[in-house]
Amino acid sequence: MKLSDLALNLTPSEPRRIYDEAQKYTGVIDLTLGDPDLPPPLNVQEAACRAIMAGKTRYSANAGLIQLREAIAADAEKEYGLSFDPKSEIMVSVGAMESAYLCLWSLLNPGDEVIIPAPFWINYREVVISLGAKPVFVETSPENKFVVQPEEIEKAITPQTRLLILNSPSNPTGAVIPGEILDRIAETVIKHDLFVISDEIYNHLVFDGKKAESILTRPGMRERTAVVNGFSKRYAMTGWRVGWTLAPAPMIRVMTQMTENIVACAPLPSQYAAIEALSDRTDESYILKEFEKRRNCVLDELQTIPEITCVGIPATFYGLLNVSATGMSGEEFAMALLKSKQVALIHGSAYGGKAYNDFVRIAFTMDCSLLRRAFSRIREFLKERSL
Ligand code: PMP
Repeated sequence: MKLSDLALNLTPSEPRRIYDEAQKYTGVIDLTLGDPDLPPPLNVQEAACRAIMAGKTRYSANAGLIQLREAIAADAEKEYGLSFDPKSEIMVSVGAMESAYLCLWSLLNPGDEVIIPAPFWINYREVVISLGAKPVFVETSPENKFVVQPEEIEKAITPQTRLLILNSPSNPTGAVIPGEILDRIAETVIKHDLFVISDEIYNHLVFDGKKAESILTRPGMRERTAVVNGFSKRYAMTGWRVGWTLAPAPMIRVMTQMTENIVACAPLPSQYAAIEALSDRTDESYILKEFEKRRNCVLDELQTIPEITCVGIPATFYGLLNVSATGMSGEEFAMALLKSKQVALIHGSAYGGKAYNDFVRIAFTMDCSLLRRAFSRIREFLKERSL
């Protein structure tokens, strides 16, 4: 058997490699994957059970149940003050992952360039490469709290540039792009006639009473933006596999054709659960509260470890921690910590190459008592190394 060039071009996932390595140890505190341990709201679980028992378990329209698209339109109206036509401008997907994939598939030709702020969610790079297009990375730095700078985007633009991907709030940094920076990015995008894929999967996990803004609402951006979103993080529904896209009608039309060829539709009981999630019966505030508590706990513990620094975690359940003062690279730190204290973290370079060699990413998807235990193991680890 001979595998395709396309398949062989995929980069093996570093986070999965560390996750698999961590499974070899017992008693591991696993801070690797972004998979929250919280249950979805009870009414959402019940809605899925009711759908199953009522036999609502067949295929739906490729674009998803129209009732769900209507609920998403109502949510978008609240979120952005913009109206989207549920029939032509909204598509339900198998998670935000499929949404991001289909957006890129529907827009890119081989040779097109896509600007991706780094560090980034790894799927973007892999999908862009697998479509024969070229990712162009624009590095962000702790000095700017990992917020991409409009002039850096402008410098990366060439005649081949088609797209810019934004992910605010960001995995892996937790950074949120402020409104005034979004204004300037929008001006650049319009000036160079680009299109934006705005992945807003973490937009309801913003701490300290703040809200994330979207490039979608900037003047002239509605017709050049596709918003990727989903239920995984906002409602703790990762395994339910439902997401959505808001995009101009021609894109939604081809994406709907594409999904027929890969998955047909999102799982139907999950779509009924998603309708319930967006209803005003749902109270998902416990999810944000819990992650904010954990974020506070992580920052609090970091105060006791001068060798590890962090520029803050305003959103999401990830933080990028600088470990350079330990004398180790992020990868050395992660591997040695796993071996000696069974705490699993991912090295920052996995999310954007050597510019992030000094970092590790922590995903705080477990409760504070375990997080505190992880940090006391990290303290022991550093103490033993300094002896
Ligand atoms: N975008 C980003 C930035 C993510 O971190 C993730 C999941 N880790 C996704 C999209 C995909 O989410 P979903 O479970 O909805 O496919």
